[in-house]
Amino acid sequence: MIQIKEVVKTYPARDGSSVVTALDGVTLTINRGDIFGIVGYSGAGKSTLLRLINGLEMPTKGEVIVDGKEISRLKERELRQARQKIGMIFQHFHLLWSRTVRENVAFPLEVAGLPKEQIRKRVDQLLERVGLAERADAYPSQLSGGQKQRVGIARALANEPDILLCDEATSALDPETTASILQLLKEIHREMGITLVLITHEMSVVRQICNKMAVMENGRVVETGMVSSIFSQP
Ligand code: ADP
Ligand code: ADP
Repeated sequence: MIQIKEVVKTYPARDGSSVVTALDGVTLTINRGDIFGIVGYSGAGKSTLLRLINGLEMPTKGEVIVDGKEISRLKERELRQARQKIGMIFQHFHLLWSRTVRENVAFPLEVAGLPKEQIRKRVDQLLERVGLAERADAYPSQLSGGQKQRVGIARALANEPDILLCDEATSALDPETTASILQLLKEIHREMGITLVLITHEMSVVRQICNKMAVMENGRVVETGMVSSIFSQP
């Protein structure tokens, strides 16, 4: 489903004369249906890896293959199609603050050009699924952190993606809310057969939800495997 092969990603450093190596030869395979956790401290390269998976950036070296297609070889239009199959949720939600819950979830469907009536039905289903049907006409500022993330999840699922990328999706939430959001993600994973990729600095998140994991340090994967076997090691 997602293959990262010997990927190097460098950025020009602020002083302009050197480079920052964000990823330093990363090889990783994420299979269809995995709940894959990528864990590491700040600066390890996790966000860079996510941006490569959704084609927001291209590798300096190596290959990123999603659903059999090498991302850097896609034309602009193909890249847009590939991105529609990938949903994303964020630590700070990235909601449209001047629009209602319903309008936030409808947004990607409007971009995709669906007819109005179909959008209305789909948004109702999504809000029902994430437990926010009653708050459809509220504004994000009127919601709790957990409710905001539920809007983020509904919006990310709108175009029926194959992959959901979660960027520190529970890091702004308290432990109880975190548990309820992870529970929702688990249910969605089971019902929709979606592949989940989570990046987090919290090992507890990986333990709660993931079946496989990779540990990153300084732009490298230093450990990878089944969560059950990694945590059962002495
Ligand atoms: P993480 O998500 O694990 O915190 P990042 O992928 O954000 O790690 O960052 C990895 C390294 O790459 C860090 O040293 C960071 O400063 C650097 N980096 C990330 N994005 C950029 C960028 N756009 N320009 C310059 N350096 C960057
Ligand atoms: P958190 O629980 O992560 O603090 P918030 O919703 O308070 O979540 O804020 C998330 C981000 O969105 C912050 O960067 C904040 O500045 C921004 N934000 C929050 N409310 C609004 C708003 N009404 N209009 C614009 N930006 C907002």
